Amino acid sequence: MRRASVVAAVTAALVLTGCAEPADPAPTASAPASPSASVAATPTPTPTPTPSPSPSVPSTPEPAPTVTPSPSATQEPPPPQADASASSLQVLVNKRRPLQPQDYVPEVVAVSISRDVDGGGEWVRPEVDAALRELDAAMRAELGEGLHVFSSYRSFARQTELYNGYVASSGQAAADRTSARPGHSEHQTGLAVDVVGTSGQCRLDVCFGGTAAGRWVAAEAWRFGFVVRYPDGLQGITGYHYEPWHLRYVGTDVSVAMHGQGTRTLEEHFGAGSAPDYG
Ligand SMILES: [Zn+2]
Repeated sequence: MRRASVVAAVTAALVLTGCAEPADPAPTASAPASPSASVAATPTPTPTPTPSPSPSVPSTPEPAPTVTPSPSATQEPPPPQADASASSLQVLVNKRRPLQPQDYVPEVVAVSISRDVDGGGEWVRPEVDAALRELDAAMRAELGEGLHVFSSYRSFARQTELYNGYVASSGQAAADRTSARPGHSEHQTGLAVDVVGTSGQCRLDVCFGGTAAGRWVAAEAWRFGFVVRYPDGLQGITGYHYEPWHLRYVGTDVSVAMHGQGTRTLEEHFGAGSAPDYG
């Protein structure tokens, strides 16, 4: 039994993520400024849901593209490409790939499944909320337990506030172990959620991965367009320790392909190279 060391590791992992807000966010009398101004009453058209072989594709795809004789070539589809635009469902955000633009603000809606209600509520892009509802319904039907969201969209301003607070108190090196730099958090896209089963077991703890809810999510979330973004042992690629609670919505084109190919990280899927640190 290595409970104590596990707990210590968990604590370290948590702060490393830049994922977790403080477990007990300071309650404020007024709602946070962040999402309310940009809440969309109606779902907005999603920009480019499919990968486009656009000329602006940034970096070297892993599978060397074969010579493409003409745009109408019909053989192989192009290799998957990470999208550099912050508004893309397939945007790749990590320590080497900041959001573009860094102060990007998505249109978000209130999370409609079980969620935290203090600290201003939980907000995601409309596509993500729709997928969460489907996932939650399937989970309840198949497992008898639903999904609860305890962290979601976080604004550039909020991330700046968190990060600067850590820098002021502990210095930059420590801050970088504690919080994502502003513009580098996947939570700013509105596509990431931190989840736990409705039982609340192992909330914000790596032990979530061993719960019935955590195992179901790890095995089934791909069906609904989600990936467990920071798998165990792959921090050399993703830059983050194991976070079984952090789901990233990428759409089923990507999640189904990754599941079928056994690819565990977006970095590998997009052939984008590892991002162990800020470089
Ligand atoms: Zn997270």
